[in-house]
Amino acid sequence: MDRLSSHKATKSVVEKHNFKFSKSLGQNFLIDDNVIDKILNGARLSEGDNIIEVGPGIGTLTREMGKIADKVVAIEIDKSLIPILKETLGEFDNIEVVNNDILKVNIEELVKEKFDNKPIKLVANLPYYITTPIVMKFLEENIPVTDIVVMVQKEVADRMNAKPSTKDYGALSVAVQYYCDTEIVAKAPRHMFIPQPNVDSTVIGLHVREEKKYNVDNEDIFFKTVKASFGQRRKTLLNSLGGLGFLNKDEIKEVLKQSNIDEKRRGETLTIEEFATLSNVINSKVPN
Ligand code: SAM
Repeated sequence: MDRLSSHKATKSVVEKHNFKFSKSLGQNFLIDDNVIDKILNGARLSEGDNIIEVGPGIGTLTREMGKIADKVVAIEIDKSLIPILKETLGEFDNIEVVNNDILKVNIEELVKEKFDNKPIKLVANLPYYITTPIVMKFLEENIPVTDIVVMVQKEVADRMNAKPSTKDYGALSVAVQYYCDTEIVAKAPRHMFIPQPNVDSTVIGLHVREEKKYNVDNEDIFFKTVKASFGQRRKTLLNSLGGLGFLNKDEIKEVLKQSNIDEKRRGETLTIEEFATLSNVINSKVPN
């Protein structure tokens, strides 16, 4: 069996097993060879790589990764896909399918158990209803992930990739770019999937930096500062930082002054560097 990424091959697998697509599980299967190749390139997939895939579906992308990588562990929630995957991935002894909900999996343990704690890449066409929790889980937990190359809804990719003072820039942009260099890898319009979703998609590459780029004294205060700053987008920082709950107006004026940030600016204009400076000043005012 060769590639499954044609309309015909996917239909034939689906029909043979009488598989019923679940909308609520975000089941839109990719049927475009070109995009598969771009995903593999975007992830700089090579032998020796250890891959985690979330939601293998019928194994279209999984098979192509199995041909190159050292090992692929694919986590699929839908029990009815497991016998299909047994068949489509049967010839690969370097692919393991785990039938579980990704949000319930202890990834740190999984990386220890399946990959001996070696660096991993997350490569997937994600179920869109949980894109952000999945990506943030991999970034925030203690997981040795080097690259995340994932298909997500176009608007989410735009937000992850956005620069300050643009309409897409928000807390998600800062959260992702705090850890990673971002790159748009491929566009995937809705006709490249069956069934066709009612949104377009983009493959985004998040390359985790080896060294921290930003000097943040307290990540908890940093992310709280970001959240408050974007909490009410139209408000100036002088007003929105009140959302932190522990600084009064005069104190906010003082921290902004010390951070060299004009109190009339809005959160969406701040670079990550400026958020770092601001949160460090705020942190120095927080009682222990
Ligand atoms: N990788 C396949 C492809 O590219 O054609 C399928 C991608 S489809 C967009 C998303 C997949 O994620 C489906 O197979 C779905 O069953 C699975 N999925 C949905 N929720 C999940 C969860 N919480 N944990 C693991 N897999 C999940």
